[in-house]
Amino acid sequence: MRRTLYLKFLTGYFLFGILGFILVSTLTHQILKEELQRQEAHALYTECTEIASNYASNYYSGYMKLPELHSHIQTLSTYMNTRIRVVGVSGRVIIDSDDPEILAKDIEISGFDIGDFGGNYYMANDFYHTFDEQHLTVYATVTSNYKVRGYVLIHKPLSDIASNSYQLLNVMYVTSLLIFLLAFIIILMFTLLVYRPIRKIASVADAYINGDFSQKIDIHSQDELGHLAEALEYMANELNTLEDDQRKFVSNVSHDFRSPLTSIKGYIEAILDGTIPYEMQDKYLNIILFETERLNKLTSSLLELNKYGSHGKTILYISNFDINYIIRMTALSFEGTCKEKYISIELILSGQKLYVTADLAKIQQVIYNLTDNAIKFSSPDSSITIETTEKNEKVFVSVKDSGIGIPKDSLKKVWERFYKTDVSRGKDKRGTGLGLSIVREIIQAHNENINVISTEGVGTEFIFTLSLSKTQEET
Ligand code: ATP
Ligand code: MG
Repeated sequence: MRRTLYLKFLTGYFLFGILGFILVSTLTHQILKEELQRQEAHALYTECTEIASNYASNYYSGYMKLPELHSHIQTLSTYMNTRIRVVGVSGRVIIDSDDPEILAKDIEISGFDIGDFGGNYYMANDFYHTFDEQHLTVYATVTSNYKVRGYVLIHKPLSDIASNSYQLLNVMYVTSLLIFLLAFIIILMFTLLVYRPIRKIASVADAYINGDFSQKIDIHSQDELGHLAEALEYMANELNTLEDDQRKFVSNVSHDFRSPLTSIKGYIEAILDGTIPYEMQDKYLNIILFETERLNKLTSSLLELNKYGSHGKTILYISNFDINYIIRMTALSFEGTCKEKYISIELILSGQKLYVTADLAKIQQVIYNLTDNAIKFSSPDSSITIETTEKNEKVFVSVKDSGIGIPKDSLKKVWERFYKTDVSRGKDKRGTGLGLSIVREIIQAHNENINVISTEGVGTEFIFTLSLSKTQEET
């Protein structure tokens, strides 16, 4: 059994997990870090502008002395856990919260240029090499008398912010892991609801391929898979019966061809080698002729049936015609046979003319086959009735005899190709058992119905319907 579908799905699942992990650890981490930096910078910036406008500018305006400013800034820096510096425009450090001695020193940040912030109020780097590690630096301008005097800088190590981001990231890892595990439920559901049924369907389909149509899929869910299983089972069933039918058909055909051929061959050989004396030859030649006629009839019946496939469409030449006239003509053609058997045909026809819409030649064949049967299976001195009645836009044609009848368990089978009841096999050797199959095919092609009512030893009646013609004229 191939497992590709399942493997593909599992691979997809693990790929989803791995890609999810990579995504969280790279892109999400990066976005998170930047977002935290931005938020931190924003918070620091508020403080920074506060210091610049309330303290540093006071110093520049002369309201506050440098040591006082220094002590304020030191307090704030301890409180905020940051390093705060006040620098001049050129970068000279005036106050540094980390350096109490700064007032006595003259330190300048080399390379300092406020333009390096590039329009932003913060940057993340080692701030002109003044730190060993990366720092977030926020600045605010100190103005006094509408002039820029310097800048307040607040520095915070990025590692402080990163530790926050790692905590958040851990939460995200745990959440992702939970999602990954929950997604496993989807795998389980897929296995139970999709994969297993598909495997089952595939294995039964394999059995069907190998000709074992007895297997059932046994999936009855009301979804597409249930529908597929049902369709496949139906198809297998159809194939099975088709195969059965075909096998039966071929064996019947071979049987029905072989027996006359064997007897023909036997008699001819006997005539040729003199086993049958000259004066007896006529009798056996007549048997040969009889058998040849039977073969001929069999062949034309088979050819006729071949025109009506079990699913193929039969081409009908529809016209309006008088069914009563067709019945009268058919009855006439049986006159000779009837005389021989002392059988009379009684016609009870509705009206003078009764127009129906159907294929004339084919309906004539139906009446012929039914009458032929009625005569064949009637005892001498009996009567056959052919009747037409009109009801609800339909014409009912009935062919009724008081002959041998059909046994109950054979009633359904008489429509099958080559079917003959045991009794009649003996009675009518010439019959092929195809007559009624042809009748049924013709009636079905017309979308009409045919029924049989029969009691063994009492008689048989075949009734079929036809469409009453809308116009009372021949077309
Ligand atoms: P064919 O019609 O090819 O000469 P057939 O008459 O034996 O052969 P069908 O017409 O198909 O074949 O009939 C099938 C079988 O049904 C007959 O052999 C017979 O056993 C039974 N049957 C048909 N019609 C009647 C009937 N009117 N009375 C009794 N049995 C009948
Ligand atoms: Mg027949």
